[in-house]
Amino acid sequence: MKNRCHFIFLTFQLIFLTEMLLTFNIACMKFGASYFANRILRHVKTDMKKMVDDGCTFVVHTMSEHDVAYHSENMVDIVKASRETGLEVFLDPWGIGRVFGGESFSTFVKAYQNCRQKLNFTEGDMMIFKACLNSKTFRDYMANWIELAAKTGAEGVFWDEPHLFFGEFTPLFGGKKKDIWGCVCSTCSDLFKQKYGYEIPMDFTDEVKAFRQSTIVNFLEHMANIAAKKGLKNSVCLFPTTDPRYGIYEWEKVAMIKSMDIFGSDPYWYAYKKEVKEFVKQVSSEVLSLSAKYKKEPQIWIQGYRVPADREGEIMTAVDVAYNTGIRNIATWSFEGTDCMTYVRSDRPEIVWQNVCNAYLKYRNK
Ligand SMILES: [Zn+2]
Repeated sequence: MKNRCHFIFLTFQLIFLTEMLLTFNIACMKFGASYFANRILRHVKTDMKKMVDDGCTFVVHTMSEHDVAYHSENMVDIVKASRETGLEVFLDPWGIGRVFGGESFSTFVKAYQNCRQKLNFTEGDMMIFKACLNSKTFRDYMANWIELAAKTGAEGVFWDEPHLFFGEFTPLFGGKKKDIWGCVCSTCSDLFKQKYGYEIPMDFTDEVKAFRQSTIVNFLEHMANIAAKKGLKNSVCLFPTTDPRYGIYEWEKVAMIKSMDIFGSDPYWYAYKKEVKEFVKQVSSEVLSLSAKYKKEPQIWIQGYRVPADREGEIMTAVDVAYNTGIRNIATWSFEGTDCMTYVRSDRPEIVWQNVCNAYLKYRNK
């Protein structure tokens, strides 16, 4: 009898522990979405409440150059209102200097012509409208942006798809297709020469690939260190590829950054024309393994923009795949299927968001 009681007690204990772990696991789930295009506080409040009801635990607010110039106090109010609804808040330097993800104009690149990326174009100097990541003036601008981000009371900053320019050029009058890339400005050329002992080549060599990657990694580390000192969490999202043309081809170099807290990627399967399950699983697995190795929180972004009609159900699949791979921090770009922006809106934004909401609530209410 004693043994039986002991057995029942142990079984109960086990069930209790499993329940606890499960509850803890679900409670640890983090879901979010990006939010932009609105600076009217009462509308923001309504939307933040809706995000909470729809399963979100955090929001990524964009803070563009336009916001810095014209909405600095609005951003403080927006972050405060978002936090009051219970959401954790991250700020995104959306399109700043045209070197992050984001459909936003940059006046920095207009005002500081010498801080633009210079392309390896041999037919003459070509300075494009993208800031050089090695430019001190641009880094100082970003340090000011971080200062404002900290002032808003946000919990963290979100470094989205930092990149350098890459394109292809085909002469109309014949000749070989040529890789066109940045940056070969005087600062970058000097840095390259110091590191490799010779002039920066105009071809896309292995050293050029490595130099461009270290430029992005060094920039991220510099920014993340400043943000960490201000008490902000750092979250980074890399393009879902290790093609050197995109800049970062060894993700480990970013995962190793000590002041980075959240490490993620955005396997946007509609955009990259990939099969949802395979793509989300492959990228999630890579994010997860590097995050485990360097003690980061893994994050996966779900595509909620430019979603074609009748394919909205794939969003549920993507969240399932990310969750089953072991990801517990999932975000969607963007709120309400990105209905607010013609350029990236989904065919049926309300159905997109319904799928996001269903997927989030499925795991939050499990
Ligand atoms: Zn440069």
